[in-house]
Amino acid sequence: MGRKEDNIKKAQEIMMTPEFIRNIGTAAHIDHGKTTLSDNLIAGAGMMSENLAGKQLMLDFDEQEQARGITINAANASMVHTWHGDGKDYLINLIDTPGHVDFGGDVTRAMRALDGCIILVCAVEGIMPQTETVIRQALKERVRPVLFINKVDRLINELKVTEQEMQQRFVQIITEVNKRIIANLPEDLRKTWQVKVEDGSVAFGSAYNNWAISVPYMKKSGISFKDVYNYCKNEDQKTLAKKSPVHEVLLDMAITHVPNPLVAQKIRIPIIWKGDLASDVGKAMMNCDRDGPTTFMCTKIVIDPHAGEVAMGRLFSGKVVRGQEMYILGMPNANRVQTVAMSVGADRIAVDEVEAGNIVALSGLKDAISGATCSSDKDMEPFEKISHYTEPVVTVAIEAKHMKDLPKLVDVLRTVGKADPSIQVQINQETGENLLSGMGELHLEITQYRIVNDHKVEIKSSAPIVVYRECIKGRGGPFEGKSPNKHNKFYMIVEPLEQSVVDAIKSNEIRTEGKIKDPKALAKQLSDLGMDKDQAKGVVSFKYNNIFIDMTKGIQNLHETMELCKQAFDEAMDVGPLAAERVAGLKVMLVDAKLHEDSIHRGPGQVIPATRSGIYGAMCQAGRVLLEPLTKVYINCPQDMMGDVTRELQGRRSTIDDIHQDHDATVIIAKAPVAEMFGFASAIRGATQGRALWSTENSGFVILPRELQEKVVGDIRKRKGLNPQPYDAGYYSG
Ligand code: GDP
Repeated sequence: MGRKEDNIKKAQEIMMTPEFIRNIGTAAHIDHGKTTLSDNLIAGAGMMSENLAGKQLMLDFDEQEQARGITINAANASMVHTWHGDGKDYLINLIDTPGHVDFGGDVTRAMRALDGCIILVCAVEGIMPQTETVIRQALKERVRPVLFINKVDRLINELKVTEQEMQQRFVQIITEVNKRIIANLPEDLRKTWQVKVEDGSVAFGSAYNNWAISVPYMKKSGISFKDVYNYCKNEDQKTLAKKSPVHEVLLDMAITHVPNPLVAQKIRIPIIWKGDLASDVGKAMMNCDRDGPTTFMCTKIVIDPHAGEVAMGRLFSGKVVRGQEMYILGMPNANRVQTVAMSVGADRIAVDEVEAGNIVALSGLKDAISGATCSSDKDMEPFEKISHYTEPVVTVAIEAKHMKDLPKLVDVLRTVGKADPSIQVQINQETGENLLSGMGELHLEITQYRIVNDHKVEIKSSAPIVVYRECIKGRGGPFEGKSPNKHNKFYMIVEPLEQSVVDAIKSNEIRTEGKIKDPKALAKQLSDLGMDKDQAKGVVSFKYNNIFIDMTKGIQNLHETMELCKQAFDEAMDVGPLAAERVAGLKVMLVDAKLHEDSIHRGPGQVIPATRSGIYGAMCQAGRVLLEPLTKVYINCPQDMMGDVTRELQGRRSTIDDIHQDHDATVIIAKAPVAEMFGFASAIRGATQGRALWSTENSGFVILPRELQEKVVGDIRKRKGLNPQPYDAGYYSG
């Protein structure tokens, strides 16, 4: 039996004992070396041939990723490692997370499956904005961070630092990381979860050259910082890699410092699940109990050419066996599990059953989407929604190239939307023009590539279009919205929603999905955030970050029509009155209503248009504005190219927030509208001969400059086949 087969067999045995399982991920700023590290860990653990590692890039198995050289999907791989602490074998389930913030949703979902995360920081570049983001994401999910300072060889050989400067640089990075850890944790975890050189929760090394070192490993091997420094200086990293291999040091670090699922779930479940911890499901998850109900959180859907859709995720309690039925919460019927598998890079190895505490791949769960809660208990409370730090800002229109592919494209788009919830799909079967919205130009390019290459549908697509939002400047109304039969009248006031409330919705502190379960608690929460008490008491529903409030008292029959009013509110928030874009940050208050006595005369055809006109009219009176998405751009380039880079930013309505030196590089941080950033990738590559490293992060919506409002609104309306001039309040009072 080969080493790989032997390890697979061992892995299957260890899977049954959670004490010996560690679920870990790697996360970092793009280019800091995640993929290189993951490959070398897998190779070192004997899951692929060693001399291929780093060349084969096992985790970057997607061709598109290989071509771009960045990791787009979080891929999974399980491996066995003998810990130096006790000489026993442990199962490490490793997830490689994407390094591009365009795919931020994927990172957070991957975190949900993990208990610990190796944060990689490049010794040369130090902490970058995305390092901060991934630390925040990990801690929000109560995933324990450990630190790997990578590319130490570059520090020594390229920057030619002295041994002392090297150590200073380490201290500086560790301090910076701990600052972020402290800022993102509650009191009780702050101390224990900081990373420390002494206890080996920090390691240093070179993923590319296959070595690493930590204090515990130094004690064991007798290698000192001085030796490390000299091996690098004398260009003998091969010997160092033999004496202190990266996988030994890092997997030891993970086993020592990442909690096993039994410990981790006690910390994590109360944060990621808001159900009753004393219920059967609650107890089972807290104890990672294999005999309890089955609870599985799907963190990713991958498309397998043979098995079809495969749901990857974390099993928090119970077991999964082939043929078992599971409910996908929110869907009416159970799905039957067809195969149960563990992953090794792109391979999946079928097993008979998997128990609580593991990361598994299941086929047959056809209703599962990425982020879904799957359970043997139909009525279980679902896991907390995974929050996104960003929302879609760019759209392309997609059509099938050939008429015959029309139905297939619709299916494919649905699958794509399931697999990547940060993609929004709007299907229009009448026109055949479907809209795909995502986190950025690159995100959409990759999604289209997948539609063509993985799903084999040829498509035509429009140029990318910016996603805008609509809001208002001040208060408007009361405005009377009349039904077509004139017998029903709704009086609406609109106001911008308090920023504190918008923020709380965004961070998931306020739950906006489904029915309002506890109106009293919600009212208290909103008034604590600064909303007027009477308003806070009357909240009827949410749509995105907009709130609908009923301020009326004792109006006959209103109760019966409220569902229709809510529906009208939902529709109005989806399609605003200015440019038919989504509305953001609006408070709609129903302050009075007059209803026909006979329910026949207050059906949907009457109530919906009346409510909508009331909302739209009040918005017109308040003064409508269009909001545009901004992106934050981080650029790292050689000093002498700073001029070329700033020239590329000029003319894109950008503002430069910061320029500073970091060793021999210049770091430029700027903000620019998404609309102006199309084509930036090739422009900057051209201007710097590809020597600038850059990344972007979506940074919310702001009011479009006044001088552009009319033109952009007109353009959007024309594109949508609407009258270029939006209607004014008079139109809605008719
Ligand atoms: P990712 O974007 O974080 O997955 O980064 P990659 O693993 O793709 O690495 C980015 C680049 O840095 C590649 O060209 C690697 O060869 C290089 N690299 C990674 N680790 C090291 C290292 O320890 N030393 C040096 N000199 N280069 C490294």
